[in-house]
Amino acid sequence: MKIQKVETELYHVPLSRAMVDAIHGVQKEFSLIVAKITTDDGATGMGYTYSVGQVGGTSIATLIHDNLVPLLIGEDPRRIEHLWEKMWWALHYVGRSGIAVFALSAVDTALWDLKARLADEPLWRFLGGHDNKAEAYGGGIDFELSIDELLKQTQGFLDAGLNAIKIKIGRDSIAQECERIHAMRDFLGPDRKLMVDVNMKWSVEKAIRAARAFEPYDLYWIEEPTIPDDVEGNRRIQVEGGIPVATGENLHSIYEFRQMIADGGVSFPDADISNLGGITALMKVAHIAEAHNRNLTTHGIQEMHVSCLAAIPNASLLEIHAFRVDDFLVHPLEIKDGYAYASDRPGHGVVIDWDKIAKHKIAFKSAQG
Ligand SMILES: [Mg+2]
Repeated sequence: MKIQKVETELYHVPLSRAMVDAIHGVQKEFSLIVAKITTDDGATGMGYTYSVGQVGGTSIATLIHDNLVPLLIGEDPRRIEHLWEKMWWALHYVGRSGIAVFALSAVDTALWDLKARLADEPLWRFLGGHDNKAEAYGGGIDFELSIDELLKQTQGFLDAGLNAIKIKIGRDSIAQECERIHAMRDFLGPDRKLMVDVNMKWSVEKAIRAARAFEPYDLYWIEEPTIPDDVEGNRRIQVEGGIPVATGENLHSIYEFRQMIADGGVSFPDADISNLGGITALMKVAHIAEAHNRNLTTHGIQEMHVSCLAAIPNASLLEIHAFRVDDFLVHPLEIKDGYAYASDRPGHGVVIDWDKIAKHKIAFKSAQG
């Protein structure tokens, strides 16, 4: 069996409304970069990555088309570790992170989809089969919402079957953040999980002061309280602030996760197959986390990540992110009583209505035509 064709596609997908967090400003759309693999005997696999706004989308698509596809053609798609290593070293000098690993991620996910489909197994069972569901939470991108709007959004999450919620914070005023978090805790009651996400905005000292001020609200975690590069700072926030840290959406290799986990900077490693090196890398991070007695959470693309968390024994919460392809999914993610359910279709089971999303397709230039 040989890879015969890899199609690379780029889409600019509009969001349901303009969204704001503490770092990325106003977000109106995201770039979706898709890799579709076909073998000589007609087997297929599909994967994708995404980026904020239009940043990097064209470059990622071009990198896959020009630099990864030639490495894949004629190869056995079932030898994923071999192909991953080949792609990693081809990109290494311009990579180890950033756009390079985003490109690798889309291809890797397509390879796992293909391999699980060949085995006629749903991905969650193919990867380990621990359970068929993951506890999920609503992750708002809601920095600019008033408290009333925040509570309205929260009611929407509860109505959709979710029991855990995360809000964006990161203002200068800790008192203002306390007011918002207090309102959320009152609204949710004492038993539901509540998280906050700073999107790296604060210094370590500020995050420690804020964490102490948040103590009465029983937060489940504080996410990306400071930059992901400061492992010791994240450790101090946990120890001195007395609050578990979730971080990882800006860690882009198994080595960065290993250091953050082993050095005590994170309680909830937050992985994302779209920016970490695909399912191959996420599963390795899951095992590193397990060996350190940590449970893994995921960032974004819930329709894919549900199968990863369902596969492993040390799953924490699945983020239901606001960047969503839901409008184009033939089978929307099923959420009930606080849990999201992994697809039982072969592969990841994510089926996109390509006709419906076609209007958002963008042509990208390749040096190789
Ligand atoms: Mg986040």
